[in-house]
Amino acid sequence: MFTHLLNLLYPAVCELCQASLSDGSSLCLSCRGQLPRLTPPFCASCGESFDGALDEDFECQNCRGLRHDFDFARASLKGLAPSFDLVHRLKYQRHFFLVRSLAAFLYDTLLEDERFQALTAPLLVPVPLHWRRQQWRHGNQAHELARELSKASGLALSSCLVRKRRTQTQTKLNRRQRLSNLRGAFAIKKRHRDRLAGKDLILIDDVFTTGATAHECARLLKKEANVARVAVLTLVRG
Ligand SMILES: [Zn+2]
Ligand SMILES: [Zn+2]
Repeated sequence: MFTHLLNLLYPAVCELCQASLSDGSSLCLSCRGQLPRLTPPFCASCGESFDGALDEDFECQNCRGLRHDFDFARASLKGLAPSFDLVHRLKYQRHFFLVRSLAAFLYDTLLEDERFQALTAPLLVPVPLHWRRQQWRHGNQAHELARELSKASGLALSSCLVRKRRTQTQTKLNRRQRLSNLRGAFAIKKRHRDRLAGKDLILIDDVFTTGATAHECARLLKKEANVARVAVLTLVRG
């Protein structure tokens, strides 16, 4: 009965190819296999992928001369059409049933990238949306992803950040404009502030583009709550 009800709510077909599914996921094996995974080599700092062979760590051209306040950023999928298509369905078409399948990619990355394993009991921190935007979207995709990842990995979820003010949509802004657009946009919830000192965190978001959002969150967490390390894990490297 319950399964039947679930099937009504969450259609048991693949989101991308409509093949019927029975394993409770929203993407079939073949579509999952075809998504563009982001694998080494990639920039040790911002996670930008590099097409070609490289044996050692490298820093991409974009990161040279930049200071990121996060320790490193990593994404699960390359910023190609199929990845953005899924994020779009999750974010704007409110296909929240996709969250579990998408969080599985984050979990794979978490296990496979040793830098995450080197963190000490990291807390998963979703990048917050302003409450009004969250209301309009019927939820925050970063929070949903972090919650599923927490279930899969056993790492604790910490919604310690809030978005204080609405910011202009960042899509058309460059990194410098984004940084000034984001100044003062986030705050740490009072009751969390004292508990974060010395902790390692993993910021969770759907897409990493210029890194301005991750930088601003990491800057705040380190400066105001004395957080030790801030890693960034996103679904897509835009
Ligand atoms: Zn499929
Ligand atoms: Zn880089």
